[in-house]
Amino acid sequence: MSIVRRLGFGVMGALARPVRALSDNTKLRVLAYHDVSDVDAFERQVEYLAHAYEPVVPPFDGVPSSKDRRVWITFDDADPTVVSNALPVLQRYGITASTYVCPGLVDTEVPFWWETVEHARSLGISDGSIPDLRTLKGWGDPRRREYVASLGEMIRTRSGQFRRTQITSEQLATWMDSGNRIGNHSWDHPILSTCEPAVQESQIAKAHDWLVSRGMLSDATFAYPDGDATETAVDTLQTLGYEAALLFDHRVSSGLPSMSVSRIRVNASDSLSEFKAKVSGVHPALHRIRGGS
Ligand SMILES: [Zn+2]
Repeated sequence: MSIVRRLGFGVMGALARPVRALSDNTKLRVLAYHDVSDVDAFERQVEYLAHAYEPVVPPFDGVPSSKDRRVWITFDDADPTVVSNALPVLQRYGITASTYVCPGLVDTEVPFWWETVEHARSLGISDGSIPDLRTLKGWGDPRRREYVASLGEMIRTRSGQFRRTQITSEQLATWMDSGNRIGNHSWDHPILSTCEPAVQESQIAKAHDWLVSRGMLSDATFAYPDGDATETAVDTLQTLGYEAALLFDHRVSSGLPSMSVSRIRVNASDSLSEFKAKVSGVHPALHRIRGGS
């Protein structure tokens, strides 16, 4: 029996608001940011979106339609700068957005696993023999976890525990109280396709339970860690009542609801011209022609 059914996660019906379908042939641009360290560049981007597009967040029913000018701003990994830096800018322009949270890291000083890898690399640990992230993302989840833990231990021995500031529950509450949205990004950001099905289920269900029990799951939406969608993840999400799940594929989305919503990858530090090209869809199209992922 799946962990979802065993643990009885059947609560979504009462809690989730529907992510209504946009009318046919209406394109929705979904932007995928991470952290926001360059506030000035980010503000220029937001000012542009406010004038040239129609920023929306779920649920999409009742939002006046201006056809294909809709844009949904998302931030993966809920970096603290999303609240400290992005939120004041968004508020100045009356825009709301979504962030995707890994509850296993909230209120901790635990780095994301790839940050530990990069930190170990920067310290010259393992004499430069640390595999690149692409390779590590292909390893089985238990092997990858064990390896990263060993790197963490070597860092600790060398220079003390490696810590990073993660978002806090209070910051998430501030984000929500301002009308912004929160979604599920798995418990601690594994590569789902390298996890056993039961682990995939618990990664999604545990994060779901944490968010729901704190009243933080604004919408039944999920962002696949690393954009890595699997059949088990889709089944688990649908069992829990999710109606939309977001990729990280650098494409313009064809709309909702869908378990494979495309997103355009943007950086808060992008120049305005580069940002405009990305949002327009020109850059993603060129990116694909050039063979980018
Ligand atoms: Zn992520």
